[in-house]
Amino acid sequence: MGDECLFCKIVNRELDSEFLMETDELVVFRDINPMAPVHLLFVPKKHIRSVNDITKEDDYILSALIFAAKEMAVRTGVAESGYRLFFNVEKGGGQEIFHLHMHMIGGWE
Ligand code: AMP
Ligand code: ZN
Repeated sequence: MGDECLFCKIVNRELDSEFLMETDELVVFRDINPMAPVHLLFVPKKHIRSVNDITKEDDYILSALIFAAKEMAVRTGVAESGYRLFFNVEKGGGQEIFHLHMHMIGGWE
């Protein structure tokens, strides 16, 4: 899995991308087409297609995503002002890249 997956390539450093955070479970980088002053993507290293495909064994990944968001909110200065975390799920939910990722947007005045 992942030969044609853009986010697998980014995770595996086959594409140039600046990671704001990297742990055993995930990487964080800026969205290339930001919809807010701060728009980050939290991407598990494990290829999972979407929320529909999460299993009980992926518990630790979901937990890691949320704790990474908490830390990045502080680091990007939006913790106090607030932010939104969301997953787009499958085509009808607006998902365009079929490798699980969580969006963080914030930083408005
Ligand atoms: P989604 O619609 O939830 O699948 O979100 C995919 C997101 O990935 C979009 O917000 C895109 O702007 C973003 N994106 C696509 N290609 C890249 C890339 N090479 N680097 C960073 N973000 C990307
Ligand atoms: Zn992938």
